[in-house]
Amino acid sequence: MEKRQLLYEGKAKKVFATDDPTLLIVEYKDDATAFNGVKKGTIEGKGVINNRMSNYLMRYLERSDIPTHFVRELSERETLVKKVTIIPLEVIVRNIAAGSFSQRYGVEEGTVFSSPTVEFSYKNDALGDPLLNTDGALALDLADQVELALIRQYALRINQGLRKFWRDCGVTLVDFKLEFGRLRDGTIVLADEISPDTCRLWDTATREKLDKDRFRRDLGGVEDAYREILRRMESHDA
Ligand code: ADP
Ligand code: UDP
Repeated sequence: MEKRQLLYEGKAKKVFATDDPTLLIVEYKDDATAFNGVKKGTIEGKGVINNRMSNYLMRYLERSDIPTHFVRELSERETLVKKVTIIPLEVIVRNIAAGSFSQRYGVEEGTVFSSPTVEFSYKNDALGDPLLNTDGALALDLADQVELALIRQYALRINQGLRKFWRDCGVTLVDFKLEFGRLRDGTIVLADEISPDTCRLWDTATREKLDKDRFRRDLGGVEDAYREILRRMESHDA
């Protein structure tokens, strides 16, 4: 499958057309941004790691009947995916308080929830991805009731699957962001990526952060953390 025209260049990936109108090629970059693009940098090797991790985890989720956009890994940084119309919602699942949740509600980072939370943000960089409830999503016509219920159900099932996966690797899944899209026939599938850019992952034993918070918060050892989380992932089936 050949890359055709560049359709979109985002903060972390480039998206290319292919000869097949139903398929796209995603190329992962080493560019990193935080705080809605205010902080910029490079994390060497990140694109390779995120590509491999996202594909591995999507294949894992497919095995528990979560439909995803994944088709085939083409190279270290490139993956063939099903083209979807992205539903402009950032679906955030949390097991433990951190980041914006801790700030917004004054809850200490690390506070464990009795059950997971699902939050929606309106995916709109110009507005800074504001929080949104299901009524807001309906009012903005981002999705209908049935789709929102399905997205929530998928998000919780993905959380169950990923928590178990990472537990087996000695890693605690704190929170993560998902994006869903519609195929041409309206089927909703998981799209975008699942990676240390979009998840908070803590070493269960030491509570060391093995994710993008090392970049956001200038904690150092960013590349090492990405390499370590990949190593843990690849130890899963070993
Ligand atoms: P951003 O747009 O936030 O800067 P990226 O750099 O990751 O993010 O760009 C990738 C873009 O591709 C995102 O806008 C994402 O919503 C979109 N996308 C991800 N998967 C698919 C897909 N299967 N079909 C169409 N668009 C997709
Ligand atoms: N997240 C993301 N993209 C975003 C916002 C959040 O991937 O645009 C992820 C982030 O990596 C974390 C989770 O979603 O794993 C929850 O993020 P939070 O709302 O705490 O926001 P942040 O602290 O990044 O502002």
